[in-house]
Amino acid sequence: MAIHPIVVYGEPVLHRAAEPVVDFDDELRLLIDDMFETLAASNGVGLAAPQIGVGRQIYVYDADDEAAGVRRRGVFINPVLVASRIPDERPDPETESEGCLSVPGLDFPLKRAHRVTVNGRDETGAAVSLTVEGWFARIMQHEYDHLQGTLYVDRLDRKWAKRWKREQQELGLDQPGVSWLPGTDEDPFGH
Ligand SMILES: [Zn+2]
Repeated sequence: MAIHPIVVYGEPVLHRAAEPVVDFDDELRLLIDDMFETLAASNGVGLAAPQIGVGRQIYVYDADDEAAGVRRRGVFINPVLVASRIPDERPDPETESEGCLSVPGLDFPLKRAHRVTVNGRDETGAAVSLTVEGWFARIMQHEYDHLQGTLYVDRLDRKWAKRWKREQQELGLDQPGVSWLPGTDEDPFGH
């Protein structure tokens, strides 16, 4: 197993749709093991394959689902997501802020759907399905977006998009070839 560097905003693989997985083989299972190890080292709650430079439709998650009172850890391969309507209101910076390992050190408020169902495959190729609400539904939407080539900062409303553009310029988050290594480099979110 190995911890992989996480690429940041501006790396082309993050900004294009990922390819479906065809072979459910040992290579895939090794990649998923590495993704779980990288996620744990990064103190994150979810990680999509493009974030370690692999343009395939895979994401892993590992976090407490407080709404349901359980811990959830798993993988989705070739997922399809169905979401409830995203409310029109402005996002609440206190309770609806989001961050991303590929946008190091920043977080911005973003409105998300309250409830989602994800259908996909696990590492053996078996069908898996998950219906979640609230914060965990946010994680699913965030990771699913990664597989479409969309990052949460691409979805911000006008006010927060302006702030993101400014931070992006200051931090130089628009160049390919930048990455950080979880567990070795300083944690960009101070965890
Ligand atoms: Zn992310």
